Amino acid sequence: MFLSKAAYYADFVVYPFLLLLLASTLAWGTSWGNAEWLAAGIGGVAAYSLLEYVLHRFLLHKIPPFSRMHALHHAHPAAMVGTPTVYTAAIGGGVLLLAWWAAGWNLGCGFTFGVMLGYFWYGLVHHAVHHWPARKGSYLYRLKRRHNVHHYAPEACNYGVTTSLWDRVFGSERRRPAA
Ligand SMILES: [Zn+2]
Ligand SMILES: [Zn+2]
Repeated sequence: MFLSKAAYYADFVVYPFLLLLLASTLAWGTSWGNAEWLAAGIGGVAAYSLLEYVLHRFLLHKIPPFSRMHALHHAHPAAMVGTPTVYTAAIGGGVLLLAWWAAGWNLGCGFTFGVMLGYFWYGLVHHAVHHWPARKGSYLYRLKRRHNVHHYAPEACNYGVTTSLWDRVFGSERRRPAA
């Protein structure tokens, strides 16, 4: 949906704070506990990357009303369109509760940290892809090219924004629009 400037940029203020809060749980951990926390964090980043792919491909492109909201971003790629922080943070809270219930507090915090870090990185990357200039051949330039193919290719492809991994796994990776 269309957001105000403050609502659009809120992710970049709120998520670093939430990430710091989750990371602060490391201060009370033993060294083995912290190693487990970090491993869960890596698992969380990996889980996030798959979630980004699945949610974008199916929820945002196939299931109303989410598909209608996401269509606004496709119609106005540089506009302040996004998901309000209160919704995504509530989902993050749900992830924490579920992971806490399934694997305990320490692993739950590490896993949620990884998922939230992935989402924060996605927010930065997706903003940069649409708003920042990129030097030819740079990392950002390659990300921009891939995401532009998602926006403008006639066929549906390149759902991953932060990584091409799941597009490769599921066969939806395209280098450039089909002629
Ligand atoms: Zn899309
Ligand atoms: Zn986009």
